[in-house]
Amino acid sequence: MRSIDVLIVGGGPAGATAALNLGPLRPVVIVERNASPSPRIGESLPAAARRLFRDMGLLEQFLAEGHAPCYGQRSIWGDPQPQERDAVRDPDGHGWHLDRTRFEQWLREAAISRGAEILAPATVTHIERKLDGWHIAIAHGSEVVELRAAMVIDAAGRGAPIARRLGAQTRIDDRLICGWLYGRDEQTGGRGLTYVEATEEGWWYTAPMPHHRRVLAFHTDADLPAARIARDRDALLVHAASARELGSLLDSAGFVAEAESGFTSAHSATLDPCAGDGFIAAGDAAIAFDPLSSQGLLNALYTGLAAAEATDSYLRGDSDALPRYRETVAVITDTYRQHLALWYGMEQRWPDATFWKRRHEKPAAVTENP
Ligand SMILES: Cc1cc2nc3c(=O)[nH]c(=O)nc-3n(C[C@H](O)[C@H](O)[C@H](O)COP(=O)(O)OP(=O)(O)OC[C@H]3O[C@@H](n4cnc5c(N)ncnc54)[C@H](O)[C@@H]3O)c2cc1C
Repeated sequence: MRSIDVLIVGGGPAGATAALNLGPLRPVVIVERNASPSPRIGESLPAAARRLFRDMGLLEQFLAEGHAPCYGQRSIWGDPQPQERDAVRDPDGHGWHLDRTRFEQWLREAAISRGAEILAPATVTHIERKLDGWHIAIAHGSEVVELRAAMVIDAAGRGAPIARRLGAQTRIDDRLICGWLYGRDEQTGGRGLTYVEATEEGWWYTAPMPHHRRVLAFHTDADLPAARIARDRDALLVHAASARELGSLLDSAGFVAEAESGFTSAHSATLDPCAGDGFIAAGDAAIAFDPLSSQGLLNALYTGLAAAEATDSYLRGDSDALPRYRETVAVITDTYRQHLALWYGMEQRWPDATFWKRRHEKPAAVTENP
């Protein structure tokens, strides 16, 4: 059995960020179930990410990747008249519409170049806490790899499979789901704006992507009749065409839908505790955001970096490192919940619609641990 300092489960944005910051300091292995990043929704990266890339010594490399700039947002939210907010007054400048697959691959490569090892495709089949650390069995192709690690980072996304296996509980705040599809966008860069439109049953989102493509997504609650729209590609297209401004925006962009579409949960969730003796959760595993916030990737980068720093301090014997990390995540969670209530509170046009009523009332959280 080989000994390492840190095992990271999940090689997405949070796991790769934790690994690239720990790699120069300690032996670290990432276990990732997919051989390489696959296309997935979530391409808007806020401008504040610039500061994190600078702190991690990655800003020049990130800019050289040439992701499309995002200059602001146009929305119909709380008012039938469209509002535009641009990046001119943002001290960090513009954000980005990412080529998400390439972004994730780039982060993984940064982790490897800084000394992290990655096993992919691979999954943890057994994990047990013993006196000398975690004993872990990993299925990697036809092999079983056995490792002993002092610390485990769960960066496996919303499911937080490792932390939950160790007894942590997920608090789910709502039942938001998202149906999405991609298409061609003939208007170069779509003026670099993200577009959001509220409707009685939920809200729409569309954004231009690199290579003349565009994402179109609809959000509602899983138990509402409109969930049928989110699950059905053709229904998505019909309803998008009838939304107040969205339909004409798609027309003017020359939007032609591709065959690929998808459906995913998009609820807000938090893990309790998000760090304990010998384990720590980062990214969506620790706190998952409503896509309305566009905060998920930023949070994955931020908590990936914070989890790496907390892990290094903890392994040096700093007993306050994990409580400090829990406090950091608690502050992020409180601020996020306040902002989310504020954003949804701004839309009061359908006071009797269940989707909006739920968001104007105090959420009834559900705690889950299988
Ligand atoms: C509909 C929707 C739209 C979104 N849009 C945006 C957006 O525009 N901007 C934004 O910033 N955020 C957005 N997000 C959120 C963003 O995608 C996430 O916050 C971000 O992906 C979190 O990164 P992560 O590394 O924590 O988790 P993930 O990206 O989920 O990565 C987890 C990794 O772990 C791997 N994994 C999972 N289970 C295991 C296992 N058992 N063993 C090994 N590996 C495992 C997965 O393959 C994956 O590579 C959106 C989310 C949704 C649902």
